Amino acid sequence: MSTELLMKIRIKWIIIYTILLIVFILITASFLIMYMVENDANYSSISFITMMIAVWIAINLARALKTKIPKYRYIEVVKCLSCGYSFKKKPDEGDYILRDVGICPQCSGRLIVYSIYREKVE
Ligand SMILES: [Zn+2]
Repeated sequence: MSTELLMKIRIKWIIIYTILLIVFILITASFLIMYMVENDANYSSISFITMMIAVWIAINLARALKTKIPKYRYIEVVKCLSCGYSFKKKPDEGDYILRDVGICPQCSGRLIVYSIYREKVE
């Protein structure tokens, strides 16, 4: 899955949890008010249940906010077969290991893709 997609999913869940949390806090508050007005024990048990749901949603929201999505950048090492001259660059589309990418600027030997790897961006 791509980083952009993960970020979109994360934002979507943060919005959903925030709305649900507000809704359940309002429901809990209304049941508590009804309990205080009517003095019916049923309202206090219902408000306790909705409060528990609100707490559960708050925990999930905190977890979603804490989740960090790592970012990566791709690096390609190009190396000369004759003299060992090498440099790093951003991989081009269709690059693969051992691909011939040109002529060495130092000794006119063959330059190949030596390795491709990804690095975490802090
Ligand atoms: Zn060379």
